[in-house]
This record gives sequence, structure tokens and C-alpha cells, in this order.
Amino acid sequence: MTLTPDRAKAKLLTSGKRPGAVAGPDTTSWAPADPPAPDTGVSAGASEGAATRDAGAEGTGRRRDPDAGRTTAATVRPGSLAATGSPTVRPPAAAHLSDEQVAELGRELDAVRDAVLAKRGASDAAYIRRVIRLQRGLEVAGRACLLGAKNKTSWVAGTAMLTFAKIIENMEIGHNVLHGQWDWMRDPDIHSTTWEWDFVTPSTSWQNTHNDMHHRWTNVVGKDRDVGYGVLRMDADEPWEPKHILNPVINAGLAPIFEWGIAFYDLEVHKVQSGEKSLAELRQDLKVVGMKAARQFAKDFVATPVAAQLVSGSGKQALLGTTVANGLRNIWAHAVIFCGHFPEGAETFTEEMVEGETRGDWYVRQMIGSSNISGSKFMHFMTGNLSHQVEHHLFPDLPSNRYAEVAVHVLEICARYGLPYNTGPLHKQVGSAWAKVFRLALPNKKK
Ligand SMILES: [Zn+2]
Repeated sequence: MTLTPDRAKAKLLTSGKRPGAVAGPDTTSWAPADPPAPDTGVSAGASEGAATRDAGAEGTGRRRDPDAGRTTAATVRPGSLAATGSPTVRPPAAAHLSDEQVAELGRELDAVRDAVLAKRGASDAAYIRRVIRLQRGLEVAGRACLLGAKNKTSWVAGTAMLTFAKIIENMEIGHNVLHGQWDWMRDPDIHSTTWEWDFVTPSTSWQNTHNDMHHRWTNVVGKDRDVGYGVLRMDADEPWEPKHILNPVINAGLAPIFEWGIAFYDLEVHKVQSGEKSLAELRQDLKVVGMKAARQFAKDFVATPVAAQLVSGSGKQALLGTTVANGLRNIWAHAVIFCGHFPEGAETFTEEMVEGETRGDWYVRQMIGSSNISGSKFMHFMTGNLSHQVEHHLFPDLPSNRYAEVAVHVLEICARYGLPYNTGPLHKQVGSAWAKVFRLALPNKKK
């Protein structure tokens, strides 16, 4: 189907997606502009240039929503970083590499990315459309089963399907669409400026703290607030305080309500305390989060239970089902995300180490600061391919279905350059992240 700009806009207005921005050209600040959209069944429906980009620092693209005046933080790449040179200090794990070796490593990884871009096309588009159809089917079927939730089989089937639907929406679809991994399709329905995900924190807030801050400053202590989310002590260099005794309690409490924790985190209240954000801005953000939270609450905790009550008197059981589905999705997302950078061996960095960082050093930091989860194709799918965290941090905007083939090259490059490649099965990585939560609850051992 070909969408004219008017039809595309009309479709957006009826799709329940974020209104406003439409799919513009997928340009990047350091890679050449992507080739024209492949013949994937949807042509460029949106007007070229409707979403514009500032030439942001260090490769940050910010698309401006022309209707609402909103900017959304697109995925960070090492755009303006020098191809050669030397940083003030290289991280210990990469200290054995010369400037030339790091520059060559950067060129090799650029080539890996270019090879995927050259192949990306109709089969990838068909993949994400299949995943979206599967997710929507599971969600509709899950909620339909919950209408008869008094029946135990119906409750189990409905809750299970809704749990899977929520996990797939957040992980393989939401996180990746919001990175702009599928923007090249020019499909206004599957685009980083229009997708509103099934999570309390609004897409735009997440894009700011995740795509921009976390991916730009990955594991730089003092810059990347994802190192402990401002509530946990997750790095030995952070001075110990008595409140850190609560590390394990806070982490365990956070897991089942993870999406609410992230919604609060994305408000960046600390910036009000430091004067970087005004109270008026905080009030505006609270309004946006409040509206999103109300919609999520109405959908899961009012509409589905009320419908179940009217259909079969199963309101209470349906409410239990939607609550369990949300809780299990939160626990899973929390576990997967904690495996991304917290297992032992994932390096953290000082602000000094990013001074004078070259493109190759940026790649090195992303590789040695991230950790993977090994496992089956099904496991990779359920983590939204965040099990390929190393590859995701190298190339946050490549389609997630390509990370497995990218991993083969990255593993080989790491081995050849003598760099660690942190990976392990889920239970080992979760156990390792939790061990750190407990270890850092106590003061550092004296050496
Ligand atoms: Zn990401």
C-alpha cells in the first residue's frame, strides 16, 4: 500500500500512536544518508524533511516535531569524534592498544555496520511486521481469554499471552523502534517519532534518558545515570554511604514495579535540585507522565476487568491477570536490563577516559562496558535482542534481527585485539549482577 502524506497523517491520527512527527529521511551524522527505501510494501508516505535534524554534538540526532515543537532524542553515534588520535587516558582493558590499532579497530567496525546496511531490506521489514502481528494477536487473544477469567484455564492462558505480548512489545518492538532501528522503512506506523509503547514512561522521556544520555555516556560514572539509576550503588568508585546497605532491598523492590521506577527516573528530578531544570518544566513533564500513566492504568486495571465483569462476572480474576502480566513483564525487563552492564567484568569509566575519545575508543568503551547473555534464539527474541548488548551498544540503530550475525564479527575482532567480550547464560549474568548489588551494599574491602 502506498501512503500519500495526507493518508499517512490520517492513519496516524487513527492509529493511537503519537501524533505529530512523521517519518522523514533516516539521515545520520557520520554514515552517508541511507539508500532510498527498499520495496517493502510501504513507500515513503511522509513528506521528506518533515522531521528535521539538528547537527548535534557527538553525533546526536534530534528530530524536531514540527507540530508540537517537541524534540525527540534519536540514537547517538560517534558522529563528530575524530577517526584518529589518543584520549587522555585509555581504559585499563584497552591500554595495550596503540592509537593506530584503535583507529583500525574503528574502521573494521564501521565496515561491519556498512555490510549490514547494504543487506538491510525487504526481509528485515517483513520480520518486524511479523513480530508486530504476533504481538497484537497475543494481546487481543490474551485479553479475550481474561474476559472469562473465572475459568482457571482461561485465566492462565489469558495471563500468559498478555505477559508475552507485553514483553515482546517493550523489548523486541518498543525499545528498538524508539532507537530508530526501523526508521529506514519510512513507515509512519513503525517509526521512532510516532511509536508510543506499552510502558508507563512516555516514549519521548525514555528516548531522552536512554537513547541520548545512556548510550552516549555508557558506563561513565558521574555521566551515565543508568549506573545505579541514582538509587543503587553499582560502582566501587562511588563513595560508600550507610544508605547503601539497602542496595539489595531497593533492587528487589524495584523489579516488579520497574516501569514506574523508570517513569520516575525519566523525570530527572535531580536536575531540579541542581538548578538545570525549572519547576515549570518538571510540572510539564509530570503532566505528560500523568496522562500516560492514566491511559496505561485505564487500559489494564479498569477496561479489561470491567469488560470481564460485564461478560462473565470475572472482574476480580481479570484484574489479577493484568496485574500479574504487568508484574512479570517488569521483573523480566529488570533482569535483562541489569544483565546489560552490571555483571562482573563489565567495565566502568572515568570522565577523564572520555576526554579526547576517538571514534575507535568510543567503540571500545561500548564493547567493554557491556555484557551479553548467551542462549537460544527464543531467549534472544524475548530479550528484544538486548542479549546482544555489546552489539546493540556498538550499533544502536541497526535492526535487532541482525545483531546475531554482527556478533560473530565482533567476537572475532575482540579476540584479535585482546579485548574482553563479556557473555554468559542468563542465570550466570543475573547472579553476577546481583552479587555486585550485595557486594557494593558494603564498604569496599581495604587493599
Ligand atoms: Zn538501547
